[in-house]
Amino acid sequence: MLTIADNIQAISARITRICAECARNPDGVTLLAVSKTFGADAVLAAARAGQRAFGENYIQEAVRKMQEVAALGAPQLQWHCIGPIQSNKTRLVAEHFDWAHTIDRLKIAQRLSDQRPAHLPPLQVCIQVNVDGGTTKSGATPEDAPALALAVARLPRLALRGVMSIPDPRPDLDAQCAVHRRARAVFDAIAAALPPGHAGFDTLSLGMTADLEAAIRAGSTMVRVGTGIFGARHYGSATP
Ligand SMILES: *Cc1c(COP(=O)(O)O)cnc(C)c1O
Repeated sequence: MLTIADNIQAISARITRICAECARNPDGVTLLAVSKTFGADAVLAAARAGQRAFGENYIQEAVRKMQEVAALGAPQLQWHCIGPIQSNKTRLVAEHFDWAHTIDRLKIAQRLSDQRPAHLPPLQVCIQVNVDGGTTKSGATPEDAPALALAVARLPRLALRGVMSIPDPRPDLDAQCAVHRRARAVFDAIAAALPPGHAGFDTLSLGMTADLEAAIRAGSTMVRVGTGIFGARHYGSATP
């Protein structure tokens, strides 16, 4: 029976191997452990294995878990919101998370900036881009993303860090690489449009368990891995 610590070690080794194959420095790829639907015990096991960055989709579940994990004596962890953010949840995100990857509307960004508590550093944010066109999916279009990014970059309590994308699953590596390269192109377009003084635009949040390799080949700097670390999810017991 593989433990969470074994899985983290295996994924990290895989990231290192993929980076070697495409001549990238593995230090340039951060592993985000996606702990949605898993309990505080699983987060604690990952934290004890040295994992510090965690991704959560369901905001109330996440805030509860943060408090449980802290009560269990976990080290200081970094929390990333990777799920959709409705207007009525912006305050919880602004008060509890370090990062939000799913900014696709200026209204939500404005609320997060307004609600970010003064004692915390700016909320680190990515623009979510819908690179494969589904109209029901979240994310700004590749065409709209640069203007949104420039507006977000001007908000005082947010720090614009990069681009995030969740393309539909594709069966083969080449197709996965091609779609991730579209997100990379949006990242490059925003980088070229930002004012020269904008520091820290350095994050491409791309790739999950199934398309990790393609994402790293396409330039991902942050892979979001759930199943590969914690195992299969059982949504029945999840509390969105
Ligand atoms: C659930 C989720 C992940 C992790 O997916 P796995 O396939 O379990 O690795 C990554 N990113 C987002 C946005 C998710 O919702």
